[in-house]
Amino acid sequence: MIQPALSTGYPKKEENNRMASKASFEDQVNFFSRTVPGHLKDIVFSGCPELGLGAGGHGEQIAIGYRLRCKCKNELFEVTAYAWKEASLIGPVNAKCSSCGRSYAVFDGDIHGYDPVACDTSSNAHGEREESAYKMNVSSLSDPKSLDIVTYYPEDLFDNDFDEFADRRADLFTWIRIIVGEEVNPDHPFLEFECA
Ligand SMILES: [Zn+2]
Repeated sequence: MIQPALSTGYPKKEENNRMASKASFEDQVNFFSRTVPGHLKDIVFSGCPELGLGAGGHGEQIAIGYRLRCKCKNELFEVTAYAWKEASLIGPVNAKCSSCGRSYAVFDGDIHGYDPVACDTSSNAHGEREESAYKMNVSSLSDPKSLDIVTYYPEDLFDNDFDEFADRRADLFTWIRIIVGEEVNPDHPFLEFECA
């Protein structure tokens, strides 16, 4: 569910130093295009643009797309998430390589994204804790799919407030979308999670 913008999480800013370290929008897009979130390092390649999905759920304009690629080079996966309460899907989202069987944590709201990294909190229901949640294949086992990931960033992560996260800025995404299968357009089903 899409929440009202910026309801949680962001540290207060000191007006007098706000502009001191702020990078331009273009510099930030360039940075995040080159810098993969830690848990996806070595298992994605970027170069996908924003995948045509528009802004993040808080209105984030910095949208970086990646395609998951197994260490064995295969790009097809069996993807699981958790069904919970009516039709909604919650994480953790895992992807198992259809070729070699390696498994990857694509998104776990307890450890990935702005809230757990910067605030030690989780903004997402967690399928391994919710009693009525059950694990399900998002892609059919007999029909493994490509998996694209879009991480979204606010434009203040280069402000001085975030100096302590200078080596983890790419981990501070505030929204994430996970697209299972090739068709990418706003009508295609995808998983999305608010991370701040
Ligand atoms: Zn593999």
